[in-house]
Amino acid sequence: MTLIADLVSLHQVDSQGRALRMRLESAEHFVAVQEKHRVQLVGRLEEMKSQIRQHQATAGNHEAESGSVKNRLETLREQLNQSTNPKQYAAVLNELKLLQTQRDAIDDLTIAQLDKVQESQGKLAEIEKLLTERVKVIEAGQTELKTCKGEVGARLSELDRERTVASQRIPQRDLVIFNRAADLYEGEAMAELVAIDVRLREYVCGACNMELPPEKYAALASNPNVAVTCTSCHRILYMTEVNSSVG
Ligand SMILES: [Zn+2]
Repeated sequence: MTLIADLVSLHQVDSQGRALRMRLESAEHFVAVQEKHRVQLVGRLEEMKSQIRQHQATAGNHEAESGSVKNRLETLREQLNQSTNPKQYAAVLNELKLLQTQRDAIDDLTIAQLDKVQESQGKLAEIEKLLTERVKVIEAGQTELKTCKGEVGARLSELDRERTVASQRIPQRDLVIFNRAADLYEGEAMAELVAIDVRLREYVCGACNMELPPEKYAALASNPNVAVTCTSCHRILYMTEVNSSVG
């Protein structure tokens, strides 16, 4: 086999391995992102629970205050019933009215807090629903990830072994060029040298579409054991059978 043929074989196993790894990584990434959302929702849930507790405590304080005002009102009513002269009666009645207004205001505050409790409980229920949905999504994602690991795992170690074997046939210098291009272009280390017009000696790189000097074609056509790279993208060039038989 020629160097170019060896490089093409390496390219095949390399890009297959990269595609499988990408599938695995995207499944892992999906679960990680969903888990992040779940943690955020748990945070919002705890925050809402704490708000509800605060509103309930404030409502409780108002209720206690209203209760003590109520006791005071009852005492005043007794005094009113027992009052013997109009002046005293008027004074007690006045105080009673004032206190009743105060109690009404306190009760309004209690109601406002209880409304807030109800509102927050509605929000809490929404968050709980979102959380339940998110947990289901995570579970589905984990199942997919497990399946993916099962399917991909075995094939991946096989491809890694094949890649090692394919790499061993390639000189160190060319392997460095290949790996650099493969890392740069996510596995697309090779590009076809395309003849646009052989007579006019017009050639382009099949990956980046940039024009190639005719010397690139000449070098590749004359010696398939030397790696020739694209002037623009530095991918390793190869020619298909049809292409290499022309000119
Ligand atoms: Zn190129």
